[in-house]
Amino acid sequence: MTQFNYRPGRIFLSVPHMGGHERNYVQKALEDNWVTTAGPNIPGFEHDVCQHTNAQHAVAVSSGTAAIHLALRVMGVKPGDEVICPTFTFVASANPILYLGATPVFVDSEPETWNLNPELLEEAIKEGIARGKKPACIIVVHLYGMPANMKAIMAIADQYEIPVLEDAAEALGSRFSGHQVGTFGKAGIFSFSGNKIITTSGGGVIITAEEELAKQAAFLANQAKDEAPYYLHSQMGYNYTLSNINAGIGRGQMEMLEKRVKQRREIYTYYYNKLSDIEELYFLPEPKTSFSNRWLTTILLPKPFDPEQVRQELENENIEARRLWKPMHQQPLFAQNKFYGNGTSDKLFERGLCLPSSSLLTEEDLDKVVKTLRQALEV
Ligand SMILES: *Cc1c(COP(=O)(O)O)cnc(C)c1O
Repeated sequence: MTQFNYRPGRIFLSVPHMGGHERNYVQKALEDNWVTTAGPNIPGFEHDVCQHTNAQHAVAVSSGTAAIHLALRVMGVKPGDEVICPTFTFVASANPILYLGATPVFVDSEPETWNLNPELLEEAIKEGIARGKKPACIIVVHLYGMPANMKAIMAIADQYEIPVLEDAAEALGSRFSGHQVGTFGKAGIFSFSGNKIITTSGGGVIITAEEELAKQAAFLANQAKDEAPYYLHSQMGYNYTLSNINAGIGRGQMEMLEKRVKQRREIYTYYYNKLSDIEELYFLPEPKTSFSNRWLTTILLPKPFDPEQVRQELENENIEARRLWKPMHQQPLFAQNKFYGNGTSDKLFERGLCLPSSSLLTEEDLDKVVKTLRQALEV
């Protein structure tokens, strides 16, 4: 486990960054004794998320993973179903499919966004239908903050009438064609874990335009308590509620979101300006349709540099970098699952690195990363 304060002066990949007002919301919760999973910060936080994203309904829960699990469940995913999921993602996009007894079918990336490849998506759907297994849901991930190609993906999803869940865990504040990510599908989710662009120290939110879906998710998140003067249950629920304390942190953090997006984008630009002269070092540009929150700055290293070796050289200087996600089709957990590939995610894993992108990094920190990276790449 990486510890928060391990080795003084360490340059972290992505850490919490308080704005100041979090303290007021938390203090009020303590004073009023709302130290539980109910209290005014919870609807307040949900309201803030709706305001920012233009979503109609938001349901705050205990993690992004819980949000994905609940969203899939209320979208009707059942045991034995197949669910399409990008191979290039964090495992938390795929695990909730297993929680429901369903089976992930993995689809590779497109080079333009590194996200779900629309052509391969359609191929996977067609083959699924031919096998008598039309996918029950499509999970789209906006990885590292970069919006997926929602125009092409929604056109395919609509054509085949398959609901879409957007895993926008890393992409709060990102937009596609002017609309916030998370609002294109039947439901979307955000994560507020400690390493995301803003945090509740641990938490997640489901957004949707459908009131019934939101109601059902909130119901299941709190043990599926039926209307009765005693505890009556007709469905299996979960304990996925968010604490009023955490929601208070979230309210303070939501006030900072726009600033944090701006800061992360500035970090990206800083690295770009200082490193893009290096031959064959690749930064993922923003397509014209898209606005990325640049949660993490990601690069592809020139050949023949090995990202593991470069990561180690940064580590030796007390700098935390991280490989790009190892694709799900390469994970032992999913060795038996179907995969529609084109080599893109394999290449990303072989060449890619995430650079420290915390909004509280100083110019001095960034300079140290740049200097160390240039040394590692012998330029
Ligand atoms: C962080 C993350 C999640 C899970 O969120 P938690 O709040 O950590 O449970 C899901 N999907 C992606 C792509 C993530 O990065």
